[in-house]
Amino acid sequence: MVKNEQLYSTLKTYFGYDRFRPLQEEIITNVLDGHDSLVIMPTGGGKSICYQLPALMLTGITLVISPLIALMKDQVDGLNTNGINAAFINSSQSEAEHHTIFDKVKSNEIKLLYVAPESLSYLEPVFSTTKVGLIAIDEAHCISSWGHDFRPAYQQLGFLKNRFPEIPIIALTATADKATRDDIVNQLSIPNAKKYISSFDRSNLNLTVKPGVDRMQQITSFLAGHESESGIIYCLSRKGTEMVANKLIKEGFNAIAYHAGLGHEERATIQDQFINDEIEIICATIAFGMGIDKSNIRWVIHYNLPKNMEGYYQEIGRAGRDGLPSETLLFHSYADVVQLRQFAEKNSNSEVQLAKLERMKQYADALSCRRKILLSYFGEYLEKDCGNCDVCKNPPTFFNGTIIAQKALSCITRLKEQEPIGTVIDVLRGSKNNTILSKGYEHVKTYGIAPEISWTHWQQYLIQLINMGYVEIAFHEKNNLKVTNLAKEVLFKGTHVRLTQPTDVKPTESTKQPS
Ligand code: ADP
Ligand code: ZN
Repeated sequence: MVKNEQLYSTLKTYFGYDRFRPLQEEIITNVLDGHDSLVIMPTGGGKSICYQLPALMLTGITLVISPLIALMKDQVDGLNTNGINAAFINSSQSEAEHHTIFDKVKSNEIKLLYVAPESLSYLEPVFSTTKVGLIAIDEAHCISSWGHDFRPAYQQLGFLKNRFPEIPIIALTATADKATRDDIVNQLSIPNAKKYISSFDRSNLNLTVKPGVDRMQQITSFLAGHESESGIIYCLSRKGTEMVANKLIKEGFNAIAYHAGLGHEERATIQDQFINDEIEIICATIAFGMGIDKSNIRWVIHYNLPKNMEGYYQEIGRAGRDGLPSETLLFHSYADVVQLRQFAEKNSNSEVQLAKLERMKQYADALSCRRKILLSYFGEYLEKDCGNCDVCKNPPTFFNGTIIAQKALSCITRLKEQEPIGTVIDVLRGSKNNTILSKGYEHVKTYGIAPEISWTHWQQYLIQLINMGYVEIAFHEKNNLKVTNLAKEVLFKGTHVRLTQPTDVKPTESTKQPS
């Protein structure tokens, strides 16, 4: 019990809290008992205390390995303000600065030493003079090429356990699926690490996915119901953030663009203004949000499809930290998938990236509870449907779509599988645009066979046919649509196809092009 009391008094004295959050106390006890731990806790869950508090109670120094040099200074400043002696070592410091820090370490004036994995070799003088009490590895998913944020320098961290076999290691991350977790434990040589996986369920977040057509119009009608609330719109590109911000500003919204192309100071100012509620809407690339601690973000919109579930989860997770109901809206566009595939293919571990994108797409295409799918990605099983996602609120209605499918499949065949989705739809609807006329498609037998189905509905039907395996996108041939063997059963044997009623987003003239 003495130890327990000591835990609470340290928590109170240095951090000002009376109670531990779920799992913190168990984790801290495991660390103090000298065992290894793997902690998977959502951003904002309170991971830092799991190594900062033991650092204060153990003899020797606690090494904190962290990839984000930019955030290290803030973390260290924060600790020092709380009366906890901490410092960081990185390559931008002079040798003299390093020595000043090493001297303080030697004389026990420092409890926590932050270091990037690249800079570990600087610490030899520390290792030879000072006892290490604990090694914390933050953002541990960076070690794994299965993770979404692989950093080669993390892969050398395996030596730590060999070098300090008696010292407990605590690896922490907010995002790691099962494969990544196993990989972390393996690579760090901590096979017996106790795993602490806190629930990823953020039940106060509503999850909604809508087709990515007329996005600006959808956003403004969404915002009409969210006056004077803080929110973030994530876009894929810098240009995207500026375009969305400018359009919103023109409509009188209090919005601003944020991306890595802005100066350091400008970014800091925007962050402060957002935190102080002086700016309501941030249109940002994923560069925004790391280290942001704002509890009353009421909504998050993804203008573009994120490239993986980890990123998506982290970004929507910035909403509703105060536990109050908050909304998230994801626009799902076929054009985004095509673009993200191209990015992924250029990546060195393209196979992993493509598989992750595929999971993201499956989530966006889901016809069953989205939260179940999201949580299952992180290895968590939700017993009941959540009731707080668009699918739960509006379950899809199926209908016999055999004739629609036959029209689409036959059209793709008649176009000799040489056209992408847009042209296929234009032919089905009998459009008279330049592409159609210049290629003489008005003479194709399936030309204009279904003008009564709107452009966006056709788009959704075709995407359903792709997802059901009747149609394939030839990504290496200009994204042309091709029919599969399965399609032949529908065309020639009349095999029934079940389609779901499309989602309506008030189609207008401008929805003719998937933007
Ligand atoms: P993470 O590293 O998991 O993203 P942090 O360690 O930065 O999260 O903690 C997020 C916030 O929660 C911080 O403001 C922190 O002070 C606060 N916090 C952590 N533990 C507790 C606790 N036991 N009681 C109250 N607040 C806590
Ligand atoms: Zn649901």
